[in-house]
Amino acid sequence: MPAADLAERDVVLVTLDSCRYDVATRASLPHLSALGPLLEAETPGTYTFPAHSALFNGFLPQPVNAGFVLGHHRLGAVWRSGAARPATRPAGVQFTGTTLMEHYADRGYRVIGAGGVTFFNPGEPGNSLPRLFPEFHYVGRPAQQPLTRAGRVVDRDEALTLAHAGFLAQRCLEADRFFLFINCPSTHIPYTTPNSPLTPSTGEALERLYRLHDTKSAHPPLAPDAVEELLGMQRRGLEWADEQLGLLFRRLAHRQPLVVVCADHGEEFGEGGRYGHGHPHPTVTTVPLWCGLLSP
Ligand SMILES: [Zn+2]
Repeated sequence: MPAADLAERDVVLVTLDSCRYDVATRASLPHLSALGPLLEAETPGTYTFPAHSALFNGFLPQPVNAGFVLGHHRLGAVWRSGAARPATRPAGVQFTGTTLMEHYADRGYRVIGAGGVTFFNPGEPGNSLPRLFPEFHYVGRPAQQPLTRAGRVVDRDEALTLAHAGFLAQRCLEADRFFLFINCPSTHIPYTTPNSPLTPSTGEALERLYRLHDTKSAHPPLAPDAVEELLGMQRRGLEWADEQLGLLFRRLAHRQPLVVVCADHGEEFGEGGRYGHGHPHPTVTTVPLWCGLLSP
């Protein structure tokens, strides 16, 4: 397969928001595993905005021990911006626009984005990320909703982007060529999905975790069994995403798109004395990544 073939492919790019690498190693992920091996990667951003700003300029989380493998290619980068430093290892797709979305739109692709965490809410005037897309679908919490327990520690279904996989697949298939980006909040606090509903125990642990996030405090720390319970919820949130990605991949496979799935950043649960993300602890900067080419 010539490298030029990669540049002509349709594209599916997915971020599993806040998903930890070690959680991915413990999850059952048949559809992601079929793409390629789980890679341990280091993200250039510790929270959603900088991680996606880099990503949209082609700077993916970088595999720690290997490059990217796509088909028969071993690559230093999947996408490489003209603004990047020269590199010895080849890139799958070189581009010169300011973002991947601009690059693909200029080449006639339908460029579609979808998201569920608040950095992607186009109703928030300060959010620049959704404005980078000519078409963006936001399914998460409304802008300026009060940060109450009732608004945050909730079961989620339609507020999960991948609950709309069929709709997004249809939008792609209506176009001759497509670039689809999905930010997936099922692995983001509160980690609830149809596979990981709230229980009295997890609801209480989540309330405490939100307080620790909000106060940037480590006290009182979560008990080890509460941490395990919450990490188990994130694992089930990832497994739910894998099921939904399986539906998406089945609909799009005949177009043989290039697919990259990664976390934007991870999450700390007190291992270094803090909770949440936005700081450079290894639990935050080490993320899972898969890439591959779908085939019918
Ligand atoms: Zn994020």
